[in-house]
Amino acid sequence: MSKAKIVAIDDEVEFIDMIKSYFEPRGYDITVAIRGTRGIELVKEKKPDVVLMDLKMPGIDGDEVLSLLKSMDPSPKVIFVTAYDDGGKTKARLLKMGAYAYFDKPVSSLRELEEMVNKAANT
Ligand SMILES: [Mg+2]
Repeated sequence: MSKAKIVAIDDEVEFIDMIKSYFEPRGYDITVAIRGTRGIELVKEKKPDVVLMDLKMPGIDGDEVLSLLKSMDPSPKVIFVTAYDDGGKTKARLLKMGAYAYFDKPVSSLRELEEMVNKAANT
């Protein structure tokens, strides 16, 4: 079974570098973007299994990117990785919009994130 194809979208360069240097050596096909608009282009181009998405970004926020992606092609599973916390309101809204999961940032365990990616890719 081949490893999941991932697109990660996050405006924090250090975070995106960390994600890429974790997943890439483990055999995942991962491409990254620091802006929502570029992320959307990458999703069109790469047709990933999983999208790792930040919520708060300059330009288009992750929730808008989610609705654009869902209207384009509902198949990639979108996992939000964000520090944003408003008592679960946004989390519930994103899940209702079709997000697959919500993962807290800072990511305490990349292994756990990897497990979630695999689960999402095989659902
Ligand atoms: Mg951000």
